[in-house]
Parts: sequence; structure tokens; C-alpha cells
Amino acid sequence: MFIDTAKIHVKAGDGGNGAVSFHREKYIAAGGPDGGDGGRGGSVYFQADEHLSTLSDFRYKRKYEAENGEPGRGKRCTGKSAPNLVIRVPFGTLVRDAETGRLLADISTREPQCIARGGNGGWGNTHFATPTRQVPRFAKNGAPGEERELLLELKLLADVGLIGFPNVGKSTLISVVSEAKPKIANYHFTTLSPVLGVVRAGEEASFVMADIPGLIEGASEGAGLGHEFLRHVERCRLLVHVVDASGVEGRDPVTDFETINRELREYSEELAQRPQIVAANKCDMAPREQIDALRAHVEAQGLEFHEMSAPIAQGTRELVQAIARRLAALPPVRVFEAEPEPVEEILDPKDKSVSISVHDGVYFVEAPWLYKVMSGVNFSDYESLQFFQRVLMTTGVIEQLEQAGVQEGDTVSIYDLEFEFRY
Ligand code: GDP
Ligand code: MG
Repeated sequence: MFIDTAKIHVKAGDGGNGAVSFHREKYIAAGGPDGGDGGRGGSVYFQADEHLSTLSDFRYKRKYEAENGEPGRGKRCTGKSAPNLVIRVPFGTLVRDAETGRLLADISTREPQCIARGGNGGWGNTHFATPTRQVPRFAKNGAPGEERELLLELKLLADVGLIGFPNVGKSTLISVVSEAKPKIANYHFTTLSPVLGVVRAGEEASFVMADIPGLIEGASEGAGLGHEFLRHVERCRLLVHVVDASGVEGRDPVTDFETINRELREYSEELAQRPQIVAANKCDMAPREQIDALRAHVEAQGLEFHEMSAPIAQGTRELVQAIARRLAALPPVRVFEAEPEPVEEILDPKDKSVSISVHDGVYFVEAPWLYKVMSGVNFSDYESLQFFQRVLMTTGVIEQLEQAGVQEGDTVSIYDLEFEFRY
């Protein structure tokens, strides 16, 4: 079976904890603090790989975890940062947050994209030595790595999508005009996974053609394979509608043509508006009047019409040239923009609880949601800082600090941020 959606769980690595350690040497009684910082947790990246064409790898393995950063050690040794985890997916994979459906990334280039950030390492006790606090017996914990449920969805990247009933000759066409070698057979649904072929249309021009499994009647209501597979032509710049002009299977070519177009409209009005070229196939065994009737019907709708007989490459060169001409005037393949996380979702997480611990008059605040908010705040910018203060107020963090006993002038430490508490 062709797998084109998957649900997986990813977790970036936690940062390593900072170390509490003191300098020790023979004959030296009490050395200063020398605990090193923790290492950074590995992030989770997605990267497109041209050797993959389905999401089937995700069928059995659903959990992906990057390693944690190592803890800091004495002698100011920083813990080792963990390597990033790179998950390979086919070109054209959309990565969504499973809970909200929000689009996080469209993996359509070779550029790796970060989907879950690893946590920063915690500071070792070296950072906390002050003239009044020479023996800091505490260090910071590493920050948590991001964790999320993801929905992966493959929307192939191709310039041209072939559409049409099963058995009309789509696979034959792509095998004749490109190096792609799909199965060709005289029965329905031979194509179970999409096939991409690079078509050369002269010295310079080339384009990618996708052969997707045939549409069947009722497909757009989910009656057959069609509905599932229609998403793969969604990005195509141009549709090539292959019609069996011979009617050998007992259907009427004009009716076929209309049926497929109706399916397209029912699936998506936008897709139905996509530029379309009609290729009448099996002309070697089609009566002349039948071809002409189809041509008249198609051209009356303002569409370009070509006759061919795919297996003997008759008319296919002309079709390829016509496709290249049309593509030259069309916008590039659509890449989807990631949707920004709505502010309410960040500021109003379901679980707003924080953990507060106190060491030597320093108030440590920890919570994964808070860490996430902070990663979007620029602390050298006054307005961002004010925004962050509002977050601390509205989410009740200040109140909880007060309950924990914080006093004016005490130090509050929230991951990479440290400030003096003021009313
Ligand atoms: P698909 O289901 O649309 O991919 O159709 P295929 O490419 O698998 O072709 C279905 C059958 O029709 C195969 O047996 C082909 O050999 C045959 N066929 C395809 N094109 C032509 C054509 O132009 N003329 C004739 N006579 N047979 C064709
Ligand atoms: Mg086929």
C-alpha cells in the first residue's frame, strides 16, 4: 500500500544539567566553584530526500527522540552537546502539529528545517559565585527539549500531474516521455504509488511529471482511491488529462472527460481551475468521428487538445512541447508557508503550572511552556521584555513566586534569564 500520511511523535533532547563542583587540589583547603555548564540537547530536523517517495518508513517507527545534552562536570568542563536528529522525508512532505493542524513546515527544499528545538544546557555553579555568595551549592537544570505530536502529509512536488480514468494510458505516457518505469498493465489500479518522471523538452527545458493512481467515479466522496490521491495533484502547475478516445472499455470519451472534471470540482474548486491540457490517447484504435467529437467538446471549453498513441510514441513529442510551452508561462510549484503559532496558544497553555525551587535566596522557575515563550522573546528589546513581564503576571508566575516567599531584591532565575525581583 502507498502510505502518504503518518502520525509520529518527536522529542528534542533536554539540556544537560549544570554541575555543582568545587576546585580541589592537594594542600588547598577550599577552592572556588568550578562546576561546568550542561550541553545542549539535540534538536529534531526534517530534511527532504529524493530517494524517498512515500511515508511508509513511518508506519512502524513512530517515536523519534534526539539525545539529551550531557551534564556539566567539575574543572569547568562543559557537558557534550547532543547531535541533532535528522528525519528524512520525501520532497513535498507537510509537517503539521497533530493537535491543532497548524502547518509547521513544508519540506520542499534540501534545507533541513528545525521542528523541535533541543533545550539549552543549565549553568554550572561557577556562574553563581558573587562576592557575597562564594560557595554556591546549586546549579541550573538543563532546559527541556520540545516535544510534539506531528502529522505528516505528502503532497508531491511535480510540475505536471496526469489525471484520468484507470487504464487510459497514463503510465504508458510517462514511461515513453521520461526514464520513469511504472508498471503498465491492462487492468485497473496498477499504479498504487505515485511515479515521478523527469521529462526533457529540449536542450534547456525539463519538467517533472507525476503519474498518480487513476481516479474513479465517486472518488471525491472517498468512494475509491481517488480522493486520497487527489492531494498529490494539488501542487501541480498544470494538469494533463488523459482520455481514452477509443472507448475500448465501453465508456464514452466525452462522458469520461466530464466525469473526471466533476470529480476534480467536487474535491476542490481551485484544483478544477488549474490549467489543463487534454491528451486523447489510444487514437490508433479510435474511430475518427469519436476523436473529432471529443476534440470539439474539449475545444469548446477553451482547452488545448492533443491526439496521441502513447505506446508507439505517436503525438507524445508534440504533447511534451505543448506542456513545456504552457509551463513556461505558469508560476512555480507552490510551496506552503508555515503558519505562525497563535499568540493565545503560547500564552494560554492548558497547563500553566511552574516548578519553583529556592537555593541561597535564588528563585528558580521551571516549566516547559515558559521555556517555549522565552525562546520567542528578545530580552535586549524593551517591548519584548515588557511583553514577557505581562506573561509572568497574567499566567500567575509572579503570584506563585510570592507564595514561595520571594522578596524585593531577590534573584529570580528562569532558564537563561536572571533578574532582581521588584514590585
Ligand atoms: P493507466 O492505468 O492509465 O496508467 O494505463 P496504462 O498505461 O497502464 O495502460 C493500460 C493499458 O492500455 C495497457 O495495456 C497499455 O498497453 C494500453 N495502452 C496504453 N496506451 C495505448 C494506446 O495508445 N493504444 C493502445 N492500443 N493501447 C494502449
Ligand atoms: Mg497506471
